[in-house]
Amino acid sequence: MSLKTKNIWLDGEMVPWEQAKVHVLTHALHYGTGYFEGIRCYALEDGRSAVFRLDEHIRRFFDSGLILGFPLPFTVDQIKQAVLDIIRVNGLKECYIRPLAFLGLGEMGLYAPDNPVHVTIAAWSWGAYLGEEGIKNGIRAKISSYTRHHVNVMMTKSKVSGNYVNSVLAKAEVKNAGYDEAVMLDTEGYIAEASGENIFMVRGRGVKTTPLTSILPGITRECIVTLARDKGYQVVEERFTRDELYTADEAFFTGTAAEVTPIREVDNRKLGHVCPGPVTSDLQQTFFSVIKGKDRQYARWLTYV
Ligand SMILES: *Cc1c(COP(=O)(O)O)cnc(C)c1O
Repeated sequence: MSLKTKNIWLDGEMVPWEQAKVHVLTHALHYGTGYFEGIRCYALEDGRSAVFRLDEHIRRFFDSGLILGFPLPFTVDQIKQAVLDIIRVNGLKECYIRPLAFLGLGEMGLYAPDNPVHVTIAAWSWGAYLGEEGIKNGIRAKISSYTRHHVNVMMTKSKVSGNYVNSVLAKAEVKNAGYDEAVMLDTEGYIAEASGENIFMVRGRGVKTTPLTSILPGITRECIVTLARDKGYQVVEERFTRDELYTADEAFFTGTAAEVTPIREVDNRKLGHVCPGPVTSDLQQTFFSVIKGKDRQYARWLTYV
């Protein structure tokens, strides 16, 4: 993966990639006072490109700012336009888009209400986050010893930069132990989500995902819930335990970066007989045809570039 492109959008201007820099005394670099989004743009069969669920991502970007208490100094339309511009200006057909807002230089104390809020948007080509092989044949997950944030410790509904130290620790722990992704439990010991993905389990034709309480409200999660219900699966949003996950027929992760990635094993226990199982496979194929614009029923989720 290369992050190099022609331009990056910074505070309302297109700047050359090399010049998109910040000072080392930037507040966010010290305290994690930033928030971001992760969006994907897909190449469609007809040669056009479309951003998937742009409105929802922009809404969540603004929500993160409200939650943190330093809102974006731009309008919704300006940010939307900037996302489309960064794709066009870099000549990208299919890419990952990363908007980031952060507290800049000024006060170094924790209370820095007058520091400027900078906003940047970058885009680059990024394939399957958990690997092509993972998308096809599933990945090996391990329950992390790191607990997912409690709602009174961190603002779990926002993609706040500082929150991700928890995810970085969990991911490193399981990667170093030879697994692909970390599953994190909530403070009461129920399954919450992965380091950067939401989680689903399947038993028979019943599909279950964790409730929104302490997890990041994933847009891919919401898509899968909608698609599964539309296809006639019974979907519940309900807490589940580690042993319930061990005895699931199927399980999968969802996220903009990871898309729909089947889970082959959890803590060395194989899930079901085949991976991906029939339900995961069905939902994964439906999801891929929706993002590629092949399913007109969900064309409302696409914004053409
Ligand atoms: C971004 C993210 C997700 C997935 O959200 P999407 O909107 O589907 O990309 C899930 N969990 C965490 C912790 C995340 O940061």
